[in-house]
Amino acid sequence: MVIREALKNAVSKLKENGVENAVFEAHMILRHFLKLEPIDLILKKDNQIGNEQWEDIKNAVERRINHEPLQYILGVQEFMGLEFVVNKDVLVPRADTETLAEYVINRYMNRGFRALDIGTGSGCIAISVAHYNKNAFVRGIDISCNAIETAKINAKKNNVDDRVDFCVDDIFKTNIYGQYDLIMSNPPYIETDVIKNLDPDVRDYEPLNALDGGTDGMDYYRHIIKIAPSMLLKNGMLVFETGYNQAHMVAQLMKKDFSDIEIIKDLCGNDRVVAGCIKPFNG
Ligand code: GLN
Repeated sequence: MVIREALKNAVSKLKENGVENAVFEAHMILRHFLKLEPIDLILKKDNQIGNEQWEDIKNAVERRINHEPLQYILGVQEFMGLEFVVNKDVLVPRADTETLAEYVINRYMNRGFRALDIGTGSGCIAISVAHYNKNAFVRGIDISCNAIETAKINAKKNNVDDRVDFCVDDIFKTNIYGQYDLIMSNPPYIETDVIKNLDPDVRDYEPLNALDGGTDGMDYYRHIIKIAPSMLLKNGMLVFETGYNQAHMVAQLMKKDFSDIEIIKDLCGNDRVVAGCIKPFNG
């Protein structure tokens, strides 16, 4: 089997089984298992591939046909220009979430600050903020031990483990201690009843506890807005990612303790981020 044939075979298998970006995904699978640069798929198209490699490729195509997200198969996803290890224990970092990371990075520039990332998952937000601001110290917490293990791997991989730490915490069960300049979160925000209608790629593979935001999808926002004031320093900020239709509801909930509330849109033009400053004297 040569690369060209393997590619053709993978594309048609994916296509026949309804995978939308069959060509792109087949390229990604081959590049990953054959350790090739993009141009190699052309330059080395007549190179033979080993039986074991071919088995790996066939197996990956099979997994993809069964709706497993490509990122779990390849084990990595890019976010904010950095590479993150991903697996079934963590949500795949989304392009939408770059809106939150960019907002925080632009807001603080090179100023030093301490931040808490609630529901850190792969650690993508905490790590990219720390990567782009060398004066930032970030703590990421998550209810899932396995997610925290993955986040720690990602902090090392991206050389920020001296300024980013991760620990397991359940914000609904324990009091979270610490004083921060910034609390940020992309919490689970999908309504429980909507989950069964999601794409099988998401519904059957991504961690349910990273998606389910309760009956109206707002459980985490309500709770974090309640607990954040006691953890925020003077002029501290709270920044959320929200679902496209939740930003105004979240802004409304924040009004009591936060001022200068802003809603920021993502690249598709949907409301995506809500940010506010703690009112003086937490009042
Ligand atoms: N903070 C992580 C992310 O944005 C995980 C979010 C989540 O699990 N809801 O990818």
